[in-house]
Amino acid sequence: MDARLEAVRDTVLARNPGEAEFHQAVVEVFESLGPVHDRHPEFLEAAILERLCEPERQIIFRVPWTDDSGRVQINRGFRVEFNSALGPYKGGLRFHPSVYLGIVKFLGFEQIFKNALTGMPIGGGKGGSDFDPSGRSDAEVMRFCQSFMTELYRHIGEYTDVPAGDIGVGGREIGYLFGQYKRITNRYESGVLTGKGISWGGSLVRPEATGFGTVIFTEEMLKTRGSSFDGQRVVVSGSGNVAINAIAKAQALGAAVVACSDSSGYVVDEAGIDVGLLRQVKEVERGRLKDYVLRRSGVSYVEAGSVWDVDATVALPCATQNELDGGAAARLVRNGLLAVGEGANMPSTREAVAVFQEAGVLFGPGKAANAGGVATSALEMQQNASRDSWSFEHTEQRLTDIMVGIHDRCASTADEYGEPGNYVLGANIGGFVKVADAMLAQGLI
Ligand code: NDP
Repeated sequence: MDARLEAVRDTVLARNPGEAEFHQAVVEVFESLGPVHDRHPEFLEAAILERLCEPERQIIFRVPWTDDSGRVQINRGFRVEFNSALGPYKGGLRFHPSVYLGIVKFLGFEQIFKNALTGMPIGGGKGGSDFDPSGRSDAEVMRFCQSFMTELYRHIGEYTDVPAGDIGVGGREIGYLFGQYKRITNRYESGVLTGKGISWGGSLVRPEATGFGTVIFTEEMLKTRGSSFDGQRVVVSGSGNVAINAIAKAQALGAAVVACSDSSGYVVDEAGIDVGLLRQVKEVERGRLKDYVLRRSGVSYVEAGSVWDVDATVALPCATQNELDGGAAARLVRNGLLAVGEGANMPSTREAVAVFQEAGVLFGPGKAANAGGVATSALEMQQNASRDSWSFEHTEQRLTDIMVGIHDRCASTADEYGEPGNYVLGANIGGFVKVADAMLAQGLI
């Protein structure tokens, strides 16, 4: 790494102790930025990087609620408003027991670059709670969401900060959160949250957007090698929102998706995952992947195993951070892997990324490959602002154009900086320069 950046990096790591995921995200970005600072010494002089790594605002709050047995439960809520150089803070809320400040900051930091790459006027932020929605009744989830919003509402707004979903936060949670916001503020402010239901201000294609977008980005990478999804053997991790829609899109493009997972294990379905059944089990019944296996013949289920033991030509990690390590990456490469499109945020460890890059595997980092979700959230905000609602076809075409644009921006930036095919460098530099230019123009704030 560039010596000037090393000094800044060390300061950032020392100022944020115990936040391993945030450190990982920062170091990866810093490793790409040396050449930018050679060309733009003004970024160093204005301490753009130091400012970028310090969130504009970090909010941590108590979330008290009562469970169905009447017992008081206490969770911790977070919202990190990281950077507003390009627009209102924008990024999802994650409800998962592993959530703490370091997770929220890594996600918020990545979101700054991702949102810049979309070309839309949105800044970066992220939030969530260590609340675990699994096994909770609808009534418990509603009471939790109402309590969470009772504090969060004072910090957000359509021109201030616009949360959305992430792990553990889907349409049900966004509904309860929006209802409480409306009740407290007495305003029907559709643009304050995205991922809303279609009859009350949501956008068509938003539920599909992250998974679809990941596949569109990966298809663009494959095209640079004269290839496509058609005929590929694909493995997807996760079986939530991003995974299911990535499976559907990859299959629509002619791929065989033969495996997917949840945190309990993975399923191998050589005939191709039945997306209709998977949606029924996971989205309608809120069941587990095991329930899919019980209803389909000819499939196998591996309890507690790693889905990355299944051979693939294309891997789409769509579950969570650091789920694909160096050993798994080496195994996939040995068995003929061509491309990786990250639907999740930072699912590949630093060692795994190095393995993929050294082997010449096409590697699309999450901050570029999964940007279709937030981009379509920005399209939802556009529809809310104009009191309009677009057709599925029109919105999907907009998503496709945006993903092709992000791919081309990453590829051309990598070319410009002398590392053709390095999408990590392209995404980091492409996103950074846009935000840095805006921060310079706006003075020392
Ligand atoms: P969901 O909650 O819908 O699904 C998450 C999936 O990942 C579930 O199948 C879950 O299994 C699995 N999972 C979670 N943690 C682990 C773990 N430790 N090990 C194995 N599997 C795990 O979330 P999303 O699909 O919305 O999000 C998935 C990823 O995509 C996240 O990294 C998120 O940040 C990213 N992302 C999401 C966007 C969106 O629009 N939703 C936008 C951009 C990125 P289980 O049910 O067993 O916990």
